[in-house]
Amino acid sequence: MGDRDDRIDRARAAMIADQLRRRGIRDERVLAVMAELPREVFVPDVPAASAYDDRAQPIDSGQTISQPYVVARMSELLAVEPGDRILEVGTGSGYQAAVIARLGATVRSIERWEALAASAREHLRAAGISDVEVVVGDGSAGAPEGAPWDGIAVTAAAPGIPDPLREQLAVGARLVIPVGPRNVQELVVVERRSATEWQESSEGPVVFVPLVGEGGWPG
Ligand code: SAH
Repeated sequence: MGDRDDRIDRARAAMIADQLRRRGIRDERVLAVMAELPREVFVPDVPAASAYDDRAQPIDSGQTISQPYVVARMSELLAVEPGDRILEVGTGSGYQAAVIARLGATVRSIERWEALAASAREHLRAAGISDVEVVVGDGSAGAPEGAPWDGIAVTAAAPGIPDPLREQLAVGARLVIPVGPRNVQELVVVERRSATEWQESSEGPVVFVPLVGEGGWPG
């Protein structure tokens, strides 16, 4: 193995130990997936070991790949089971979708920018992931034609919880979504308990780029 590979492996292992375990990520399946998945493939423009830095990083179209801890936390809160059909809104680099797919789900991911969707498809192919379908469009009202979903992850910040997203959850499924003003949001989990009941919990502050569209912010 070369020095470069060594450095990347060390950075990935340090991410798992120092950023994820130390801050309380407990789901061993999420930790195992993130310990294997090459994050550098999803941010080809930064030096490979820096892909594991403890921060969000710029990608194209003025967007960001989320901080590793935030990806882990969202993945844990989604409670993905093998065979689940999961909707992601905000493909970005494709990394979060890749983590969900490696947890055993089939993923549909919606991205508003064509260029990002195209590069995310390349990143996913390069990582050997085939269970993610990336589509271009406004995902702020979800994807009713694929509903009910076994989980919905919104990886862009919404001013409120869009009603169509609650409606598209299967009973027992969860929506994980950052909600709040543009500068800082609360990570909210909405679990559908029955046809008519949803239970919400707040999981701490996060900062995401805005969800832009019908159920989000004006463009
Ligand atoms: N999950 C991504 C990070 C997402 S950044 C990753 O792992 O890299 C948020 C993304 O949401 C951006 O790419 C942005 O263009 C996209 N986005 C914003 N509003 C959207 C909408 N209404 N529908 C689909 N994608 C949207």
